[in-house]
Amino acid sequence: MPTNFATAARLQVPEFLPGSVWLVGAGPGDPGLLSLYALHALNTADVVLHDALVSPDILALAATPRLHAVGKRAGGARTHQLRINQYLVSLARQGQRVVRLKGGDPLIFGRGGEEALALAAAGVPFRIVPGISAGIGGTASAGVPLTHRTLARSVVFATGHDARGGLPDDLDFPGLARTDVVVFYMALRQADAIAARLIAAGRAPDEAIAFVSDATTSRQRVTQATLATAGTAAAQLDPHAPTLIIVGPVLALRSMIAPLQQVAPMTLEQAPGVAAEERAFQ
Ligand code: SAH
Repeated sequence: MPTNFATAARLQVPEFLPGSVWLVGAGPGDPGLLSLYALHALNTADVVLHDALVSPDILALAATPRLHAVGKRAGGARTHQLRINQYLVSLARQGQRVVRLKGGDPLIFGRGGEEALALAAAGVPFRIVPGISAGIGGTASAGVPLTHRTLARSVVFATGHDARGGLPDDLDFPGLARTDVVVFYMALRQADAIAARLIAAGRAPDEAIAFVSDATTSRQRVTQATLATAGTAAAQLDPHAPTLIIVGPVLALRSMIAPLQQVAPMTLEQAPGVAAEERAFQ
């Protein structure tokens, strides 16, 4: 039975003005994790510039057919960040309502800050619509309470990937090793090196590490290993699936939380045309 969204529809939403850009976080994948601002922006935008990571079910919520993929994926096609910035400015100057849709949160490893700076420098009005970052939504969906009392007082989000595709030289591993919980983004290819550096900095080789791929989607997959076996476990995963790596004592709670947790994402009803075609074959 579909939920009645009428109450939400009565909310007075600030106007999405022509000639402005909304930098919108799309969350980790499940359309149910979009904010009401994000949904409003998709309903109202004239044009949507989106990352490759944004799921088709979320793009389908856009009212406009003008959906432009401008994202960067490791090893895949790249649209230079400066060109994206210029494109945003020029579309806004043409008087369009522009949505820049990014996976997760636009300001967490998403270069949304650079886009906001470019818009500010060009005098283009904009709004930042936060999204649920993969490190929040994906860990919850995997049944990992990031700062469970008595187990963790601190959590760090770190990138495992620098501009050259390697492990960032300036990642402070002694500092990370002293943090209770570390969530690595863009780190699957570096899992072995990360685990080795954490062990060298004092974490136990038999400490748990978890890989959460395609979090919050129907393809979500969680794999648990130890720091000592992290490289072998990572090698067996799909290198193209967006994956988070979690290290920390809170992983011990997963076996109690995950089995009973309901994680089915919101899905779109099939497009009417497709359904009609399928009916014809039955
Ligand atoms: N702005 C995004 C992060 C972009 S960097 C956010 O806030 O979530 C891209 C990285 O995010 C991926 O390499 C992966 O580590 C992580 N990621 C994004 N979506 C994910 C998902 N559904 N499941 C697991 N990891 C995800």
